[in-house]
Amino acid sequence: MDFRFPEACVAARDRLRGLLTAGPFAEALSRWLARGALERPFFTALGEAGLYGFAMEGGRLSRTSALREVLLFEEFARVAAGAAIAALAHAELGLMGLWRFGSPALQERYGPEAAAGRIVLCLANTEAHAGSDAAAIRTTASPDGDGFRVSGAKAYVTNGALADFAVVTAVTDPDAPRNRRSSMFLVDLSAPGVRRRPLAKSAWAPADLTRLEFDAVPVPGDHRLGERGRGLGQVLSVFTASRVTIAAVAVGTAEGAFALALRHGRRRRVFGRPILDFQAKAFEAADLHARLEAARTMVWRAAWETDRGGEPRAAAATAKYLAVEAARRVAAWAADLFGAASVLPQHPVHRFPLDAWAAALGEGTQDIQKRIIFREALERREGP
Ligand SMILES: Cc1cc2nc3c(=O)[nH]c(=O)nc-3n(C[C@H](O)[C@H](O)[C@H](O)COP(=O)(O)OP(=O)(O)OC[C@H]3O[C@@H](n4cnc5c(N)ncnc54)[C@H](O)[C@@H]3O)c2cc1C
Repeated sequence: MDFRFPEACVAARDRLRGLLTAGPFAEALSRWLARGALERPFFTALGEAGLYGFAMEGGRLSRTSALREVLLFEEFARVAAGAAIAALAHAELGLMGLWRFGSPALQERYGPEAAAGRIVLCLANTEAHAGSDAAAIRTTASPDGDGFRVSGAKAYVTNGALADFAVVTAVTDPDAPRNRRSSMFLVDLSAPGVRRRPLAKSAWAPADLTRLEFDAVPVPGDHRLGERGRGLGQVLSVFTASRVTIAAVAVGTAEGAFALALRHGRRRRVFGRPILDFQAKAFEAADLHARLEAARTMVWRAAWETDRGGEPRAAAATAKYLAVEAARRVAAWAADLFGAASVLPQHPVHRFPLDAWAAALGEGTQDIQKRIIFREALERREGP
């Protein structure tokens, strides 16, 4: 395996670093972070900079590379994990669903605007009683003329407050076996019968978290994504892909917290010495650095496997598991190192433990990753 990244990946990462460091986007981002809410120029600026990882080619969407995405999302999350998550929900959930399962006509119609960030997307799967157990959803899509009517409620949707379209899973075949009951749709959120209820939350600011309610919302028949009855498998495959990117967000969260804490630990003096001059603390830092390096390497491997084709279920789950564990440990250690100041919401370290916590939930909890990892562990040694 070659750990040198292609020039184009590094150039994209440097472009993003430039945007985040100085200039109008960096200034606007500071405002959005202070207000705890994003605006549409956030999505268009990233689209104009070509940072979503999807482009149009011969009238269809094409994906750049997963390796490029993990570099970008780590970089983004070091500075603002919540903003990275809004971009992730648009690209790695919304565009990913359209790219994988949208018909050529749908891709031609919405792909250019979505890849440019002029149409904002989200993905709505989780319901109040159906999170980890995604097959338990109750939202329905009933046939209505040439199309469907969607009814139900999706409990936690990132970008739900401002998205134009949602990739939605809904039951179309209630009597079929559990894995064949649902289908996937591209739902226009300006259609009659859609209600948005933004939720207050502290982690992953300034991304929104919104409850979406659907009351007999009309969806044209050609807005079904993929095959009827295959919605569960399809949404799980989107999660497998985006799990690699969210693992990169966790690595970036850890890296941002670690850099902040190391800087502080070399300057803040206690008992006449910088905190990190105490070997107990230095060894803790060494342990965290090693964990973070291992997690990042696993994220790269999962991205590398993705780019070779196929579905790296075990590598993606392992990457996310290790990255989230590293992020939780590093963020808690970093907050500790700042002492009392860390509990003040305006302190720069305050967000990191919250962001690490949120990373444990999106695209499957740590228990769900362990289910996948355990299956892999058994299969490798005992056979399928
Ligand atoms: C900030 C944020 C953003 C989100 N954005 C989106 C979004 O854009 N779109 C979307 O559809 N969803 C989104 N979600 C929802 C997220 O995907 C779910 O919260 C997650 O899948 C867990 O589901 P749940 O909350 O219902 O918890 P549950 O599934 O009820 O799990 C509760 C607990 O039980 C454990 N558990 C569950 N099953 C098992 C098992 N088989 N074995 C052992 N333990 C188990 C879990 O690990 C967890 O600890 C978001 C959540 C958050 C917090």
